[in-house]
Amino acid sequence: MHEMSLCESILDILKERAAEDNFTRVRRVAVAIGPLSCVEPEALKFGFDVTMKGTLAEGAVLEISRPPAEALCLACSKIVPVSQRFDTCPECGSEALQVTSGEELKIRELEVV
Ligand SMILES: [Zn+2]
Repeated sequence: MHEMSLCESILDILKERAAEDNFTRVRRVAVAIGPLSCVEPEALKFGFDVTMKGTLAEGAVLEISRPPAEALCLACSKIVPVSQRFDTCPECGSEALQVTSGEELKIRELEVV
C-alpha cells in the first residue's frame, strides 16, 4: 500500500526533526497532499495511526489539506491552478500545461511537546 510507505517517510521526518529540535512527543501533524498525488486521505489516516503506534507520534492527530495543483502554461507562460492532470489553461485554453506542483506530500506544520 502506497500510503503505508508515505507514513513511514513521515515518521522518518518526525524522528529527524525530533533529534534536531529536541522534542519527544508529536501531538499534531498537518500535511498537504497534492491533488495529483493519488493519495487517499482515509487510507493515509489509517496508515498513520498504525505506523505511529509505539513511536514519538503515537496518538497524534493527522490533519490533511488538499491545496490546488499548479501548472505552468507553455503557451502563455502563466502559472495556473489545475485540478487534474489534463486540464486546459484557464487563461488561454491551451493544453500545453506542465504540472509544477500537486504531486507531492508536504508536512506543513507540527505541534510538538
Ligand atoms: Zn495559457
